[in-house]
Amino acid sequence: MNYDENLTTERPTFVTHLECAATGERHAADAVHNLSRAGKPLLVRYDLAGVKKALSKQALAERPPDLWRYRELLPVRRVKNIVSLGEAMTPLLALRKLGKKLGGGDILVKDEGRLPTGSFKARGLVMAVSMAKAFGIKHMAMPSNGNAGAALAAYASRAGIRSTVFCPEDTPEVNLSEIALQGARVYRVNGLIDDCGKIVAEGKAKVGWFDTSTLKEPYRIEGKKTMGLELAEQLGWSVPDVIFYPTGGGTGLIGMWKAFAELEAIGFIGPERPRMVAVQASGCAPMVRAYEAGAEHAPRWEDAYTIASGIRVPQAIGDFLILRAVREGGGFAIAVPDEAIAAALDEVAREEGLLLCPEGAATYAAYKQSLADGRVSRSECAVLFNCATGLKYPLPPMRQTLDRHQPIDFAALS
Ligand SMILES: *Cc1c(COP(=O)(O)O)cnc(C)c1O
Repeated sequence: MNYDENLTTERPTFVTHLECAATGERHAADAVHNLSRAGKPLLVRYDLAGVKKALSKQALAERPPDLWRYRELLPVRRVKNIVSLGEAMTPLLALRKLGKKLGGGDILVKDEGRLPTGSFKARGLVMAVSMAKAFGIKHMAMPSNGNAGAALAAYASRAGIRSTVFCPEDTPEVNLSEIALQGARVYRVNGLIDDCGKIVAEGKAKVGWFDTSTLKEPYRIEGKKTMGLELAEQLGWSVPDVIFYPTGGGTGLIGMWKAFAELEAIGFIGPERPRMVAVQASGCAPMVRAYEAGAEHAPRWEDAYTIASGIRVPQAIGDFLILRAVREGGGFAIAVPDEAIAAALDEVAREEGLLLCPEGAATYAAYKQSLADGRVSRSECAVLFNCATGLKYPLPPMRQTLDRHQPIDFAALS
């Protein structure tokens, strides 16, 4: 049991309204929304003074170690609508050997690969699907590079909601199989994720699918926000100096930034903030280009390519929110080449026994690059996000065999 079923309808919830992230215009809570009237992402707002009175660090400490422990800061109003697969808190693992090797830096990996469906997309989709269930939504659709589609499929099937997922044609087989097995309809599309997004928008207009695309749905960000809540709690209600986040659509980065503001408003942390580092691949780095140009928006990146498929997002609707969070805290955006990502994956697996996903490996490569160019110092505590288990990705073949009928040269094996 991961949450208290007895806390049914009478438990207080604190959502007051939704707010356009660009104009601040209010939109009613408890109604189905996609983008704001201005065509921008909507952010959920809470009665934080009420939360402050209702929630203490002590009370929180006694709750089960899962995402629902933060229920006062989450949008789901009724326990009966929670569609859970066991969203356990994820560990913070120190990379001690590599920290030493690099000169003494404190490196912590938040290992999100432990979540249902093997990626942190579960945090966002458990919230989106629970809200969809509350609203009686019947059919959810989304474009996905793999992990989001898998999480949507799993939670939607569990909730009895139909789901349809469109993936770029070169999405790894394992992702497509997982999505299909978990009950969604899934299609390979000859295009990138934003091309898939256009099909979802058309289907929404023509047959009434609910568009579950990144940031076109207001609740995924609330689920992803729990990464920031969890991290601060795990660090004894403090924040690290710097967070390296593999940035695609940016839901997690924006969500964590929102989490820290809410934690300050309820008195759990002070005004201190981590520097947020948006990590992208050199073959798809629209945020890095915009950051370096001092721009507020990030135009589409043409011919996007990277082995880190989760961050192959040529254009993000929340670009201005990503760039704002990065700049407000004095962070930066950085691109790393695929070769560095592959080498980082290899190094961390070999030295620390932790098989990162390529996106997670990109954060380690970016950390090393930032240490080398002085943007991060060895005295700082850095948190790297590993957003999925490395086992969800195509792995290099291993063809060594041993013939048990021949003499074995144990000396060579010793
Ligand atoms: C989706 C995804 C990302 C990017 O996350 P956003 O919050 O959408 O930027 C990074 N890594 C993995 C493994 C992903 O699946």
